[in-house]
Amino acid sequence: MCSNASYELRCRECGKIWGNVSRSFCEDCFSPLEVAYDYASLKKIVSREKLVGRAFNMWRYSELLPLPEDFGVPNAVGGTPLVASHKLACKWGLKNLYFKNDAVCFPSLSFKDRVVATALAAARRFNFTTVGCSSTGNLANAVAAQAAQQGFDACVFIPADLEPAKVLNTAVYGARIVRINGNYDRVNRLCAQVADRFQWGLVNVNLRPYYSEGSKTHGYEIAEQLGWTLPDNIVVPMAGGSLITKIAKAFRELVTLGWVEPKPVKFFGAQATGCSPISDAVKRNLARFEPQKPNTIARSLAIGNPADGPFAVNQIRDSGGWAEDVSDPEIVAAIKLLAETEGIFTETAGGVTTGVTQKLIAQGRIQPQETTVVSITGNGLKTTDAIVSEFPATEAIAPRLEAFEAYLDARLGTTAASAKA
Ligand SMILES: *Cc1c(COP(=O)(O)O)cnc(C)c1O
Ligand SMILES: [Zn+2]
Repeated sequence: MCSNASYELRCRECGKIWGNVSRSFCEDCFSPLEVAYDYASLKKIVSREKLVGRAFNMWRYSELLPLPEDFGVPNAVGGTPLVASHKLACKWGLKNLYFKNDAVCFPSLSFKDRVVATALAAARRFNFTTVGCSSTGNLANAVAAQAAQQGFDACVFIPADLEPAKVLNTAVYGARIVRINGNYDRVNRLCAQVADRFQWGLVNVNLRPYYSEGSKTHGYEIAEQLGWTLPDNIVVPMAGGSLITKIAKAFRELVTLGWVEPKPVKFFGAQATGCSPISDAVKRNLARFEPQKPNTIARSLAIGNPADGPFAVNQIRDSGGWAEDVSDPEIVAAIKLLAETEGIFTETAGGVTTGVTQKLIAQGRIQPQETTVVSITGNGLKTTDAIVSEFPATEAIAPRLEAFEAYLDARLGTTAASAKA
């Protein structure tokens, strides 16, 4: 195995050190493994000043990621806009509202590009030639795109009933797609067996500790885009519950490294009511979450038995935050609201965070003067089936001015006449 003094896998429960290996849980206590860093030595090799002049994408934080020493930086990944909200902020009565827009993440238009980027670096280190994943859609897109670019064979496993656009967005890159008759949780269990049987790098199974570190860059970028400060609140969508815990890890690391001032950040988790094991546990103050059978249009978040659920619940509680969930009609309304006010077309997961943010404001949990960041994690072009019925095609007219005038009169009555020169 490669060795690198600055990081290695450590058990989150018993603390046993595992070095750098392709496994995701501790054999002794069956708890998840996590990448642990030697921050004292990191402090000596990297600083905020060193970042100046590097391109704005996730590789600018390379030293803070579990990359092999001989890692050659591939194409740009991440580096997405932090959009300062004006219209929606005004509508909601907030002074400092931002949308972190991973709907335009490069190359496959979701934040999953970030996790796949660090996972494929690990796949190369462990000499896997085939990579894959269990996916609710976006992860398969990201694996297929980056595997194609970097020369891996890709084999992805998905629930058979995923959105057509998400399946097409995987197929186009030449990946092998295995459709499974069963929900994500069944697909994931199969993948654990596949990883045992085949010498494959399944990014969110046997490469999971390296995979999940990629999510930290969503948090690093937010802090840097806020001028190296932390927000008061962050609203994050939750599927397996990994992203929310990794943004927290990113913020803690920036404080440890002295790159930002320490500040309490409230973490707010967002789910769809049709699959809300984590938000349910927070709201009902349960000691452990109860697995659910997903039934929601937010398929990218439809994980009924979230691997990092307990950690997400703790992170939310310890931060003084909260969790909420929204119904399918509320998700659709929020997708439209964000598009109409900020010009951002998000997928259903972004409808979940936007809708939940609105609820949290109404509950008084988010205050007007505070700096609030809302994570938008995927692109609306991938889930058009969720909203297409909202926008029936209008009638077509003849290419003549009279036809257009008749069209306006029929719809607007006298206002059309008054608009004429
Ligand atoms: C996977 C995914 C998430 C949540 O990720 P977890 O780390 O599993 O909680 C959020 N948004 C989108 C669009 C996703 O695809
Ligand atoms: Zn252990």
